[in-house]
Amino acid sequence: MTPPASPVITVIGGGFAGTALVLQLRRQPALAGAVIHLIEPREIPGPGLAYTARRPEYLLNVRPGALSLYPTVPVHFTEWLHRQPESAAGVPEYASRATYGRYLHEELATVLSLAAGDAGVRWHATTATAAPLLSDGRRAVQLADGTEIRSDYVVLALGNFPPPPPTGPDLRYLQHPGYHADPWATGNLRRIGPDEEVLLIGSGLTAVDVLLALRQDGHRAPVTVVARHGRWPAAHRPATTAYPSFYPELAPETTVTGVVAVFKRHLRAAAAQGIDWRPVLDSLRPDLGRIWAAWPLAEQSRFLQHLAGLWSVARHRSPPHNAEAVAALTVVGFVQMQVGAVREILPDGDQLRVRVRPHGTAGCWHTAHHVICCAGPLLDYARIATPLVVSLREAGHLTPDPLHLGMLTDVHGALLGEDGAASPTLFTLGPSRRPAYFESTAVPELRQQAGALAAEIAKRQFNRA
Ligand SMILES: Cc1cc2nc3c(=O)[nH]c(=O)nc-3n(C[C@H](O)[C@H](O)[C@H](O)COP(=O)(O)OP(=O)(O)OC[C@H]3O[C@@H](n4cnc5c(N)ncnc54)[C@H](O)[C@@H]3O)c2cc1C
Repeated sequence: MTPPASPVITVIGGGFAGTALVLQLRRQPALAGAVIHLIEPREIPGPGLAYTARRPEYLLNVRPGALSLYPTVPVHFTEWLHRQPESAAGVPEYASRATYGRYLHEELATVLSLAAGDAGVRWHATTATAAPLLSDGRRAVQLADGTEIRSDYVVLALGNFPPPPPTGPDLRYLQHPGYHADPWATGNLRRIGPDEEVLLIGSGLTAVDVLLALRQDGHRAPVTVVARHGRWPAAHRPATTAYPSFYPELAPETTVTGVVAVFKRHLRAAAAQGIDWRPVLDSLRPDLGRIWAAWPLAEQSRFLQHLAGLWSVARHRSPPHNAEAVAALTVVGFVQMQVGAVREILPDGDQLRVRVRPHGTAGCWHTAHHVICCAGPLLDYARIATPLVVSLREAGHLTPDPLHLGMLTDVHGALLGEDGAASPTLFTLGPSRRPAYFESTAVPELRQQAGALAAEIAKRQFNRA
């Protein structure tokens, strides 16, 4: 195939990952002549699901210093924040997610096309429905508005999908007006009356957001929170000195038990020096992908079964202000935590009945007007039912991983087909790459992936030319 002088690159999904990628693609000299398309149906491209402006009380769960779009310019977001009117009285320790969404959109806008024919990135405010392979080796990205984009490279940056139904096979509750399948759906919570009882499934950062938003809206009735481990996310502490990396001690470990033993040794050593557990855990962050990849599948599965819940509580932390608010609501009895798994949900007039089974017991029933599923996104690409994913999966071009975490990819993010071969045209970045790294969700990991993938596409293009 003759290399195209102006390769066409189509990025599907314009949330954080898609935005970071097109910005990085534009910085590659080898791609100066590339035609870049960004497909994102939201009214404003850039913020994606997490940072689309909804409610000011939704805060970022990390400090601004960790949130630059560019790995090589760590102060980029902090400096932008300093220039904003809301920072006149000082930069907030935890900015709102809506503010961060504005930052993403403003940065993206610097590369978006302003007129037909200019060199900017072309944004299509619609959904991609398929991307079949053509006989010339390219892909035809089909959009819901009828457009077809013949592309040399296609990147899936699809983000997070709403949580799957927590119980089955009786799914009648999904049609009940009091069941909220998508905790992030716009206007969802405003349908809840101030005296209506609410039950939340899950106790992670999404549950914290929902709880605080309900309170902000004047909700007064008790809220029951059902979670398997019964813990809220740990709170951030004031920034302290970093704990030195001990990755060299972990590198030879190929079992969860081995890694945990080394980790506990460092926790004890840190405690003896008066150092909190948080910096010890954070010191592992840059090497988490390598630690995860060194485990055979059986060990990865063991981790998911026994430790992933605890990991999530310790790793995905709340801003202190949020953690204090949840603690205060618990003390006054506004929030009750019920440890156990939701086994059954049944419609009962204008209410829902929920059977919760704590470990080793027969279980008990709770009744609520509203049940909100905050159980975490659906990651299993064998179950994701959007037309694009279904068509790629059925064509054998997208392979879900055996642990139900995302898609199978090579080290560059190229999708592995059902024959195990890496696609030369189809790539992904973001949460879909959890099978390779386990942690593939937050800004620091995703901006790194965006930089590396842009460089890889540029290298391939350079080699083809
Ligand atoms: C509520 C929430 C809060 C979070 N808060 C933080 C935080 O404070 N700090 C942090 O580091 N991380 C946070 N995260 C993690 C978050 O996943 C990442 O920071 C990042 O936003 C993920 O970016 P993404 O581009 O992969 O996904 P998204 O931002 O979800 O973007 C994916 C985009 O793809 C589009 N899309 C999907 N399918 C198609 C299709 N077929 N055609 C066209 N477009 C399509 C969607 O419309 C969506 O806008 C949060 C996540 C959530 C859900």
